[in-house]
Amino acid sequence: MRARLTLRPLLLTALCAALLAGCANNKEVQKLFNNLPDSNAKQMLQGAAEATSDVSPEEERAMGKDMSALLLGARPLLRHPAAEQYVNRLGLWIALQSERPDLAWRFGILDDKGVNAYAAPGGYVFVTKGLLLSVKSESELAGILGHEIAHVIKRHHVQVAKKKGMGKLVSGAIGQYAQKQGTPELAAMNNLFKNVYTSGLDQADEYEADELGVVLATRAGYSPYGLPSVLQMFAAANAKDPGFELLFSTHPMPNDRLNRLDKLMGDKLDGFEKTASQDSSRLRNIQRLLAR
Ligand SMILES: [Zn+2]
Repeated sequence: MRARLTLRPLLLTALCAALLAGCANNKEVQKLFNNLPDSNAKQMLQGAAEATSDVSPEEERAMGKDMSALLLGARPLLRHPAAEQYVNRLGLWIALQSERPDLAWRFGILDDKGVNAYAAPGGYVFVTKGLLLSVKSESELAGILGHEIAHVIKRHHVQVAKKKGMGKLVSGAIGQYAQKQGTPELAAMNNLFKNVYTSGLDQADEYEADELGVVLATRAGYSPYGLPSVLQMFAAANAKDPGFELLFSTHPMPNDRLNRLDKLMGDKLDGFEKTASQDSSRLRNIQRLLAR
């Protein structure tokens, strides 16, 4: 990777080490985040809090519940306590590095051989069993989770609804969204959500989630190259492979995402590669259990 990127707040190797040592509760993470110097990444994270701030957390959560129900209607949740616990611990750890650590984050595994991951407003993130079995390292999985967490903290799905003229439904008094249950407006909203999961978000949102996903995974102590590495796996896969079909149809082409990250990251994050966690033994263990 070459070129330039000012992700100076990430020059916090010692900080990552301290976080990994288990000293971090939400407040500490928030404090550390607040102490970061000004940078693109910090502005990006702060911008996330301001975007669509007229949507209350309750409404966001209600939307997320509906969207998750749609997802789960198509693919059941995998009930595997060890794997669920693993994905929740890893996902929560990465989410704690964001400026929305206090969301009620929930991470689930979809019983689906396809390779994909999904996010829904309010803190819902899902990865498929196929994805869990395909990643080669915990850093790769961290990169994917970082990307999905970024969609949540940037409220990308909420913004799509607003752009499509459903602003009234997703903003306003607390509980307004919930009161729309069973109405034609909500049915229209659900159609929109279905469309997002089959057609994807805006490309700009995907690129933004890649960028922020790298920041979050790196901050969590994982290799900044975890996401690029998994994108290389996607790039090598055949777009016609049924396992990858939906992923390809809902995201920009992997090579475009890689090129963009390459330009942004350059070699600026190489220092983090050296100190990143290389231990994927927990992932291997879960993969062995899931493959049985
Ligand atoms: Zn995405």
